[in-house]
Amino acid sequence: MDYNKLAEILFSGIDKTPEYYEEKFPPRELKEGARVTRFSPSPTGFLHFGNLFTCLVSYKTAKDTDGVFYVRVEDTDQKRKVEGAIEVMLKGLSVYGIVPDEGVIAEGEEIGSYGPYYQTARKDIYQAYAKSLVKQGLAYPCFMTAEELDEIRASQENESIKGIWGKYAKHRDLSLEEIEKRIENGEQWTLRLKSPGTLEGKCRFDDLIRGKIEMPENVQDVVLLKSDGIPTYHFAHAIDDHLMRTTHVMRGDEWIASIPIHLQLFRVLGFKPPKYAHVAPIMKEENGGKRKLSKRKDPEAKVTYYAEQGFPKESVTEYIMTLANSNFEDWRRMNPDESIDKFPINIKKMSVSGALFDMVKLTDVSKNVICKMPAEKVFELSYEWAKEYNEDLAALYEKDTARATAILNIDRENKKPRKDIAKWSDIPDYISYMYDETFTPCYELTGNATPALAVKVLEKYKDVVNLDDDKDTWFSRIKDMCEEVGCTPNVKEYKQNPDAFDGHVGDVSTVIRVALTGRTNTPDLYSITALLGKDTVISRLDAALKYYKEEK
Ligand code: GLU
Repeated sequence: MDYNKLAEILFSGIDKTPEYYEEKFPPRELKEGARVTRFSPSPTGFLHFGNLFTCLVSYKTAKDTDGVFYVRVEDTDQKRKVEGAIEVMLKGLSVYGIVPDEGVIAEGEEIGSYGPYYQTARKDIYQAYAKSLVKQGLAYPCFMTAEELDEIRASQENESIKGIWGKYAKHRDLSLEEIEKRIENGEQWTLRLKSPGTLEGKCRFDDLIRGKIEMPENVQDVVLLKSDGIPTYHFAHAIDDHLMRTTHVMRGDEWIASIPIHLQLFRVLGFKPPKYAHVAPIMKEENGGKRKLSKRKDPEAKVTYYAEQGFPKESVTEYIMTLANSNFEDWRRMNPDESIDKFPINIKKMSVSGALFDMVKLTDVSKNVICKMPAEKVFELSYEWAKEYNEDLAALYEKDTARATAILNIDRENKKPRKDIAKWSDIPDYISYMYDETFTPCYELTGNATPALAVKVLEKYKDVVNLDDDKDTWFSRIKDMCEEVGCTPNVKEYKQNPDAFDGHVGDVSTVIRVALTGRTNTPDLYSITALLGKDTVISRLDAALKYYKEEK
């Protein structure tokens, strides 16, 4: 067979050679150990939490080593293409600080000298390599129709190996004349690899996450180019990751099964394969078992969920690090104020069975992140969020932004800040009593506080409350009231002799707290009182008094 002639017949319009592309896309000049990673989404417009997870690790891997992180759009399946998808996906990443160094940086916009970065724009490159394989007798046109392929599949039901191999690879050895005749007749063809695999052969590789893996070698004559000349995922993967000089491929572990094909393709094409890290899907606990975090069932599977709920990006990235590397939390304890960028991520420490998503844990991580933020930052970020997702909160803030910031500053910027806020959507409820518009009275009491005690306390407090007091004076006034209402300012004293009193200073404070806020647990009552302002304080005390008088 004259393979050169065959190559010319199949790819008459292709004049570039692999050598040309090798020269055009030379190995990158990066420092020793620099890693080149990528995100290569199909443009579906859906960014799964698992994508963000893998991207964050890939991105950090590149950054930690002064490498490159790039985005390549795998748009060969036009059926899956969604308008505006790239914009949505890139924005989803940029929220979390993932901005590609190279590749597709906005819909239709590319930077970098290893492109084009849309696979549909790389047709000539794939075909040049395909042509070269044909010339070497390593690939061949296959004219089998969909019906024939279906028939083969059906007849292989009892075979252990399925697909086009051995006697099923019917067109492996067609003569040149036969091929020419079929093409002249307008028959459609796909290009298949002439797989060099054997049934006994093994494919061994070392996955960075899973370790050593051994699988049967690929024996199938897989399709490289579809009948429209568009490459399959496998062929495009080998060529793109080689020519774009990817060093580490991090992708979902559903691709592990294809590794024998991929490694065989790298070998046949004469490329050095990249290192692979196959990332297990993010899991979720359900009914005592585990299942994949599902796009269909779980709102938190969608990356936009976190922005909608108002989880700050710092919380999400911090949480993702806890999922990625179990030693992250120890590192964080040792380096409480260090930027997360300083954490040395280790791909090898990633979970083989799939990291378990846990909303309680995320909430906890986020509370710790937010409690350390200065009030200004909490205000700014939550205001940004409110403008998009909660107009009522934005309107409340806008009444007096300095007051809003002061409210958010209560029990903050100190050694033991409170941890009430896990996400911005917690704020409306958290601060509701600070605004008349959202305050809902609730006069339920706890501890020793009773309506009768409340009447006494509130009548007295109304007389003595002075919003110009400093905190110590304010508190001494409350302590001073205790005896007059039959309580003791000293909790210890109360505990030693409970029958001698109606309650202690804590109960007196509870009455005031409940009257002013409708809650038994709030941040610092002194600051709340000061920020409520005299009129509101008096009118709330009056309303409570009226209520308890009726109750008594
Ligand atoms: N386009 C592939 C996908 O969306 C990417 C797989 C890879 O990263 O190699 O699944």
